[in-house]
Amino acid sequence: MTEKTAIVLGAGAVGLSSAYYLRRSGFDVTVIDPEPLAARASGHNAGWLIPSMSTPVPAPGMMLQAMKWMTQKDSPLYVSPNLDPHFASFLLKMLRNCTESRFTRGAATLTRLSAGALDLFDDLEADGVEFERHVDPLTMLFTDPHKVEVRVHELDTLDGQLPGFSWRHMDADALKDHSPVLTDKVVAGIQSTGDQSVDPASFVRGLAAACERDGVTLRLGESASLVTSPAPFGSPSSSPDGTEVSVQVGGTRLRADKIVVAGGVWTNEILAGIGERVSLQSGKGYGYDLPLVEGGPTEPVYLAEGKVAITPLNDRVRLAGTMGFTAIDETIDKVRAGGILSGAREYFTDWIDRAEQASVEQTGAASTPWTGLRPTTPDGVPIIGPLKSHPNVLVATGHVMLGISLGPVTGRLIAELATGETSPESISDLSPE
Ligand SMILES: Cc1cc2nc3c(=O)[nH]c(=O)nc-3n(C[C@H](O)[C@H](O)[C@H](O)COP(=O)(O)OP(=O)(O)OC[C@H]3O[C@@H](n4cnc5c(N)ncnc54)[C@H](O)[C@@H]3O)c2cc1C
Repeated sequence: MTEKTAIVLGAGAVGLSSAYYLRRSGFDVTVIDPEPLAARASGHNAGWLIPSMSTPVPAPGMMLQAMKWMTQKDSPLYVSPNLDPHFASFLLKMLRNCTESRFTRGAATLTRLSAGALDLFDDLEADGVEFERHVDPLTMLFTDPHKVEVRVHELDTLDGQLPGFSWRHMDADALKDHSPVLTDKVVAGIQSTGDQSVDPASFVRGLAAACERDGVTLRLGESASLVTSPAPFGSPSSSPDGTEVSVQVGGTRLRADKIVVAGGVWTNEILAGIGERVSLQSGKGYGYDLPLVEGGPTEPVYLAEGKVAITPLNDRVRLAGTMGFTAIDETIDKVRAGGILSGAREYFTDWIDRAEQASVEQTGAASTPWTGLRPTTPDGVPIIGPLKSHPNVLVATGHVMLGISLGPVTGRLIAELATGETSPESISDLSPE
């Protein structure tokens, strides 16, 4: 019997996870990406596997806050307007999702997806997928006592839904005992166990190596687009309109039983070839990798008001943050990115300055920021499922802040949709439509 074929467009965490599970389901798989591994968002993020933050970005008051901060050049949340009519309609849709009831509904979907997420990372490791992974408590730090109540409310709604998750409140004295490098502005903390972190670039490379080991073909450095044509004479059409979708790479047209579009923020550029689009925009983030220095954080920390995630890795500490609703734009705004470091200085006495000094001593320069574009949906929930017009095209994108956490869950769902084990109707809340 000939193997079924699948082509995956995009070699980020979502595309590679899809390729990995499609291969395990018996597909002959090819992955195509114009970039080297981990060049885009999947290599540039905080690397948290974070079921306990399974809440949608559009939350009550969020858009209002983003608008208020629009003129503050280093704010952690902002909107950068542009003339694309899709952008305006996206913002409007997002605004409509900033209600308590929609937030709760989105959180329920994300929590359902996240519930088994960490087990899949265990399975991947057991299957020999190699990546840097850390299992440490996570501490959320607050300079505003009211923000603590908001987080406690979120944690209450998660109560009992996440296996192995627990948390405790810490007052300023307990925090100082735990970490003497905190400033007096830090008034409270919430320490939790049950979330994890990875070096995301090592995860992407580990997945890619496992895919190749299992026989997946990786074609990096090649850009692909989608095209429709009449189905060849005698072969059944995969689309209701009698056409067939194939993948154009340079001068070659590739056919496959299933095509997975996992192009992150570039998903609509890929879908444009067949006249389709999904509701998706870029959520621009920034980060820094600082050298390890004495007294710096050794466990993940989240700075609640600064919206900065700090991830200690084997050879560096990563700081990641900022959410800018923007056009697809990878230029680095140093003032905006610098808000991450100045935000962190509010919480730590001299750690950032000592790390910056170490960077100068080791490399001759202060650390430079990087950027990552989060594929962002207006309801904060990912898009996973087939297109109605072309059911053999499966879309997997829109994971916003959770694309690493939910990469394997998504990959497995894509494989189950491809084999028919999961029906699109059973996950209609994730549908591209
Ligand atoms: C600052 C920051 C912090 C974050 N922190 C976390 C976190 O702690 N935990 C977490 O889970 N998530 C986090 N995220 C989110 C996470 O990084 C994303 O959700 C995730 O990387 C999206 O993965 P992806 O595979 O969908 O997209 P990408 O990684 O962007 O991959 C898409 C790929 O498609 C390719 N592509 C583009 N055009 C084409 C084409 N024509 N043909 C083929 N391929 C194409 C691109 O080159 C790219 O490699 C964070 C993101 C940022 C920016």
